[in-house]
Amino acid sequence: MPLSANNPDRKSWLHVDKNSDFPIQNIPFGVFLTRDDIITIGTRIGDTAIDLGALHQLGYFDGIPLTDDIFLQDTLNDFIADGRKTWRAVRNRIAQIFDSNNDSLKQNKRHKEIVLFRLDEIEMQLPVHIGDYTDFYSSIEHATNVGNMLRTPENALLPNWLHIPIAYHGRSSSIIPSGIPIHRPQGQILPNDADTPIFGPSKLVDFELEMAFITTVANDLGEPIPVDEAEEYIFGLVLLNDWSARDIQKWEYIPHGPFLSKNFATSISPWIVTLDALEPYRVEGQKPVKPQLEYLQYHGKKSFDIDLEVAIRPSGAKETIVSKTNFKYMYWNMAQQLAHHTINGCPINSGDLMGSGAISGPTSDSYGSMLELTWKGEKPLKMKDGSERTFINDNDTVIMRGHCEKDGTRIGFGEVSTKLLPVFKRK
Ligand code: MN
Repeated sequence: MPLSANNPDRKSWLHVDKNSDFPIQNIPFGVFLTRDDIITIGTRIGDTAIDLGALHQLGYFDGIPLTDDIFLQDTLNDFIADGRKTWRAVRNRIAQIFDSNNDSLKQNKRHKEIVLFRLDEIEMQLPVHIGDYTDFYSSIEHATNVGNMLRTPENALLPNWLHIPIAYHGRSSSIIPSGIPIHRPQGQILPNDADTPIFGPSKLVDFELEMAFITTVANDLGEPIPVDEAEEYIFGLVLLNDWSARDIQKWEYIPHGPFLSKNFATSISPWIVTLDALEPYRVEGQKPVKPQLEYLQYHGKKSFDIDLEVAIRPSGAKETIVSKTNFKYMYWNMAQQLAHHTINGCPINSGDLMGSGAISGPTSDSYGSMLELTWKGEKPLKMKDGSERTFINDNDTVIMRGHCEKDGTRIGFGEVSTKLLPVFKRK
């Protein structure tokens, strides 16, 4: 099926600002609560949210095989499970409905009142029920920087890193959409030069700038997914902030990897941008430093040119951008991650979330965490309000943004924005 939704010449009859992340070529998917307190699946063009449940009831998807209630749900899991053919047909139809040359909905005032919402009339929810969450560690710059700090430059990358897309299984229960504040975590911390831990608030709360992909049902128990087929099972991508408590992490992570230092919160942007919408932005990936085993060898361009940035907004002050990087710096791409994840037969379900790992570029202003940007806190960052940061302070808001741009078409993710509140106090 052609990707007619991506036609760069198409204009919408809905207003779209010049620098919007959501032109008619994007057509992301999300879940929102409407002004009438109804939960629905929707999309967005410019700053208008579109109720797909209502559009479907009004017959605008006639001819596409969809169950009646496919969009009248509080998650996208069933729609995602319908597979790529359906996602394409629906995106293509939405593009037609909102094409400036199509009058059917444009001229129907009653239908428009039911279907269209201003952003301040809706509340974005988590777009999927996330059964399983895996976080990779796939940026060579990030792994090298962290290895440098924890070990020595000679042992920065552990011997397995160039052969395996390293990952750990994360926790789904604390994944939250943009806008939900979190509390500074407490836990066990080993003070410098001490040999027994203390209990207290983490003093080193950090972000990790990541992207994550959301899968459809991919395989049965026991069945590996070939690397060149893997993208068939990727529905789309979101921005992800893998909140990390570095002092808790340092004490707990050996020998089994991160646990409480990571699972107190993970924030994601609420609109899933489809892999289909990102097609025009494919680029060559990083050249392998060492030969990779056959099941990880892929063909074609499987990396994506997505500009990313992180800002910190202190309470009551203007934001300061602290990092600018790009998704293309990933050493292991999503297809390799999924092929590796399933090579032992691990099943992947609709709505599973796979984080990329912190994305760091080659320069010191393109690192994906405060740990790296301030080099363990040795080089504080200056904020616009004159204050300094080594890690994240109470009441700071961390904002991540991402977009692609080519030949005048911009496809973006909006943002994931999360405020860090002080330690939780029982009333
Ligand atoms: Mn991470």
